[in-house]
Amino acid sequence: MRIVCISDTHGLHDQINGIPDGDVLVHAGDLTNHGELEQVQSFNTWLGQLPHAHKLVIAGNHDFCFEKNPDVSEPMLTNATYLRDSAIEIDGVHFYGSPWQPWFYDWAFNLRRGSEIRAKWDLVPKNTDVLITHGPPANHGDETASHEYAGCKDLLEVIDTLNLQLHVFGHIHEGYGTTETNGTRFVNASTCTLAYQPTNPAIVIDI
Ligand SMILES: [Zn+2]
Repeated sequence: MRIVCISDTHGLHDQINGIPDGDVLVHAGDLTNHGELEQVQSFNTWLGQLPHAHKLVIAGNHDFCFEKNPDVSEPMLTNATYLRDSAIEIDGVHFYGSPWQPWFYDWAFNLRRGSEIRAKWDLVPKNTDVLITHGPPANHGDETASHEYAGCKDLLEVIDTLNLQLHVFGHIHEGYGTTETNGTRFVNASTCTLAYQPTNPAIVIDI
């Protein structure tokens, strides 16, 4: 299965210079700049023009409309499967998606580190093969421009109890790239750079 990973397009999807074909397109959140419904609509139209048989989308900390107004926002994504603390099986591969990240000045889907966010990670099914979250775990693609490691330690602890093939996330744009530990590939798929230019290529992973 070929998985094409993108994230953090922030309403600039129309400026992206080509998305490779594959079986499953994964978007790890921040499809809008500030939860604008027009950007959700435009993103959905853009998705509809891509050839992938399956398209999975989660929300990120910029996508306020998906937290505050899910009844309006979620049905707009007619060209994707929207995951919010939920799973989908595709050709025997188990995907799970969740938008939460550690608290940072009351953005969307923020939760306090420790037991509050840990409760969300404890929902991830043990048979998950591909995990999609907006934020990175600790130690993978999580170094900020100011050299802080902003990833979620609680998430990493739960990942250590799983047998993931792939974890896709974004959020820390400057952490774009891949790492690998114990057979799990970690992909920070941020399409936008730190300066919000949508120029980082999609990351293609075969599992
Ligand atoms: Zn972002």
